[in-house]
Amino acid sequence: MNFDFTEEQKIFQDSIRRFALKEMAPLVEEAEETKTFPLELFPKMGAQGYLCVTYEEKYGGAGADKVCDAIINLEIGRISMGFSASLSSQMLSTFPVKVFGSEEQKDKYFPFAISGEKTFAFGMTEPNAGSDSANIETTAKRDGGSYVIKGTKMFVTNGPFADYITISASTDRSRGIKGIAIFIVDKDAPGLKNMGKLEKMGLHCAETGEIVFEDCRVSEECLIGPPEGGFPGLMEALNESRVLCGGNDCRGSTGRF
Ligand SMILES: Cc1cc2nc3c(=O)[nH]c(=O)nc-3n(C[C@H](O)[C@H](O)[C@H](O)COP(=O)(O)OP(=O)(O)OC[C@H]3O[C@@H](n4cnc5c(N)ncnc54)[C@H](O)[C@@H]3O)c2cc1C
Repeated sequence: MNFDFTEEQKIFQDSIRRFALKEMAPLVEEAEETKTFPLELFPKMGAQGYLCVTYEEKYGGAGADKVCDAIINLEIGRISMGFSASLSSQMLSTFPVKVFGSEEQKDKYFPFAISGEKTFAFGMTEPNAGSDSANIETTAKRDGGSYVIKGTKMFVTNGPFADYITISASTDRSRGIKGIAIFIVDKDAPGLKNMGKLEKMGLHCAETGEIVFEDCRVSEECLIGPPEGGFPGLMEALNESRVLCGGNDCRGSTGRF
């Protein structure tokens, strides 16, 4: 089996490498020192077609393959693993829409995610649910045409600034893992409290936050997929993201040594 990049992928790698060196490398030191992600990188990445690169052309995506997605994270990870973590959350957070979303939801979120006009975060971890991500305590109760969300999401990459947060919440806790649904919540939704940045030991420029939902009311249109049985959609998003984490970590190490 030949694992070499194709000629097209090599050209792609060269272009993202140049972009990262020119547009990102000069920003790393300040971003790490101030623990602040340079938000202008989202639209700059979007303009080059590097955000959510596998998404279909009809939404503005490049329709590239997963290898190209990994190449992006290889090259950005070489410059800054924090930048890579933050930028790749855009895909992780919108992937459940790719798996389960309606055409209206794809039309609503994908163009902004791909262009970088809006930023996205993924909130699955909770104070009492990390590795055991099916054991969440956040609930979403249906109330007429809305859901009322209650709970806390921890260690949310991009959480401090994201325009939208994709979260897991249980619509029926008695059903355990089967009762989990996915919601995409606007940062200005009533009852959403952004608790700001958390301190970490590293990756300072990838802002990580805590988001509290205090009877946060969202329209039923924010439900991504079925009201129960959403957990596999979250796992698919994580699987997509793991490849990118691999690229980021691999090249990040090369960059350091
Ligand atoms: C930089 C950073 C960014 C992050 N970004 C996000 C994000 O964007 N969205 C999000 O939802 N989460 C995010 N997280 C959270 C991350 O997903 C969790 O940290 C992870 O799921 C582990 O959960 P935990 O920290 O609660 O550790 P725990 O689950 O408490 O695990 C602690 C230790 O116990 C071990 N362990 C756990 N269960 C078992 C078991 N059954 N048997 C043996 N060993 C076990 C683990 O391997 C680990 O070593 C982020 C974390 C970091 C550090």
